[in-house]
Amino acid sequence: MATDLSSFPRIQLGQWPSPLQACPRLSDRLGRTVLVKRDDVGLLGVGGNKLRKLEFLLGAALRDGAQRVVTFGAVQTNHGRLTAAACARLGLPCDLVLTRSVPREGEAYERSGNILLDHVYGATVHVVDTDEQAEVRHQELLAAHGNVASIPVGGSTGVGALGYVAAVAELIEQFGDTGVWPSKLVAPLASAGTAAGLLAGAAAFGWEIDIELIAVSRPAEQARDVLLPILDETAALLDIAPPSLDRVRITDRTLGPGYGRPTEDVWRAISLFGSTEAITLEPVYSGKTAAALVSLVEDDSIGPHETVLFLHTGGLPGLFAYTPEATTHLAP
Ligand SMILES: *Cc1c(COP(=O)(O)O)cnc(C)c1O
Repeated sequence: MATDLSSFPRIQLGQWPSPLQACPRLSDRLGRTVLVKRDDVGLLGVGGNKLRKLEFLLGAALRDGAQRVVTFGAVQTNHGRLTAAACARLGLPCDLVLTRSVPREGEAYERSGNILLDHVYGATVHVVDTDEQAEVRHQELLAAHGNVASIPVGGSTGVGALGYVAAVAELIEQFGDTGVWPSKLVAPLASAGTAAGLLAGAAAFGWEIDIELIAVSRPAEQARDVLLPILDETAALLDIAPPSLDRVRITDRTLGPGYGRPTEDVWRAISLFGSTEAITLEPVYSGKTAAALVSLVEDDSIGPHETVLFLHTGGLPGLFAYTPEATTHLAP
């Protein structure tokens, strides 16, 4: 098989394998067997899916002689927080250029949650109003410093997606040990590096599984257009043909009014996971993905005899950025 990841530079940021957790009380409530892959758990920077991407992204950056890192995102970006954390660990200065792209304000959103941790991990934070202003600041940083590695939003490039190719190999090993294989995988889709890695990994390793991608930041068709070029790029790195989307469905059924804007179903899903399994979701990614899981069960897209794997991508600090709204919805 062509798929040997050892030729790509990589630095270890997480502890792998991440846990694969049985969820008896949640499964009971949903009438489906649910397993949760706990990619939200980690020692570095509170953990999350971006650590897998950053292992390869920063591996490549260091190989190329980077002495400073700049990346981008919304004010409450988890990717920015984990980039700051990884850079602290590596002794690299880190600039975060954050755009006020989510229509939210208030003390919690603008100063707590992820952005508070960005400061804890010693990053230099630049908050701007538009993507154009973000690019201007980016150019200023490139002009002011030598050897800057620029990592795009969400760390979603072919190289970043290799982190989720590695995650597929890890899952195949875990399911090989348990002997119980899920029929469906439910995972979030935003900047798409996670999904690209999952799809490319499934193709590369011959894992036959239906994949439900939950578009949490834009409508399904646009989400697909973001995914496809990154998927092609990932496949090219692995030297495999671009994977078909035959076993993939993209749904935006829980997107609501848009990115970072939760609906009532999302708060209900957060309560469900929290009260049955003490698994903590947040309203931007994992809560929307869980709400879609519930909906897919309700309309029998996930049938009564199926075993479903839910990828928990992290984002815990974002929960605290949504007070007081979160408290209002979660306190009965
Ligand atoms: C970034 C992120 C996602 C989405 O992953 P993409 O690779 O951007 O599609 C999901 N969950 C959390 C918590 C994230 O931070």
